[in-house]
Amino acid sequence: MKYPSGILLALISVCYARYADGSSLLQAQSFPKTAADLTFVQRVELLSDGFEVLESTYDASGRCISGCAYYGITLAEDIQRSEQNTEDASQHMYDLGYQTGEDGGFVKQTEDVQAQQSATTQPNVVVNYTPRCFPVKTDIPAGQREPVGEPLKGKPRITSPYGYREHPITGEYKKHYGIDFGVPAGTSVFTPADGVVEAVWSDKYCGNGIRIRHPSGYKTIYCHLSQQLVKQGETVFAGCEIAKTGKTGMADGAHLHYSIKYNDKYIDPMKWLGRN
Ligand SMILES: [Zn+2]
Repeated sequence: MKYPSGILLALISVCYARYADGSSLLQAQSFPKTAADLTFVQRVELLSDGFEVLESTYDASGRCISGCAYYGITLAEDIQRSEQNTEDASQHMYDLGYQTGEDGGFVKQTEDVQAQQSATTQPNVVVNYTPRCFPVKTDIPAGQREPVGEPLKGKPRITSPYGYREHPITGEYKKHYGIDFGVPAGTSVFTPADGVVEAVWSDKYCGNGIRIRHPSGYKTIYCHLSQQLVKQGETVFAGCEIAKTGKTGMADGAHLHYSIKYNDKYIDPMKWLGRN
C-alpha cells in the first residue's frame, strides 16, 4: 500500500494523537481525507481492539504506519527495541539454568535435569480434570515451563523468519512478528510448555488463533489454524496437541504462524526452537 507523503504524515499524526504514551513527534492534522485513509483508520482501530499483530509496515522514511506495536516508531528504534526484548528473554533463560546448545537453541544444564524432573512431578497449576492430550510430542519434556522446542513434528521448513524484510517489488519494509512453518493443512500443532489457554479467537489477519499463557512470563501464539482443539481457560500440558494447521486469515497457503511473547513483547522465537 502506497500513500503520497502528505497523507503519510497525516496518518502518523493521527496515530500519535491517539496512541502516544507521553512523547509526541508530530502535531495532529486534519484527517481522514480519502477512502484509503479511512481504511487505514479502521485497521488501526481493529488492531487496538486486541487483534494480534502479525506484520507491521514502514514508510519510505522508516516510520511504522500500520500494524505497529508502537505507532510511528522508526524502523531503527523498532529494531533496537526488538533486539533488546529478545536479549532480555535470553538472559531470563540463562537465569533459569539454560545454556546455548550446539544447535544454537536453549538446553538445560545436565546437573539441573534431575532437580527439574523432581520439581515437575508437582504440577504448578491446579488441574481438576484430565486435559485432553493426544497425540503427544515426545521430545518436549513433561512439565516444561518455558516454550523450548518446536510446535510441530519433523522440523518443517521455515518459510518466513521473524524480523524485517524489504518487499522485492514494492520496496516496503515489513516486520514479521513470528515464524512461519510450511506444513500442509491438518498437521498437528503442539504447545511446547505447560500453560493456560488465554484466548481462542478468529480475525481476518491471524485467522483462527490460539494464545497460551505459560509460567515464567512467556506466551505462545498460533495462527491460520483449521481447528482449535482447546477452549479459553483450559489448562494445557507441554507436548500436547492443541490445534490443526490451516490457511485461515491472511495466508496465501497452508502454514503455521508461531509467535512468542516475553513480558507481553514479541521476541524472535528462533533460539527457543532449538535449531539454527
Ligand atoms: Zn506469519
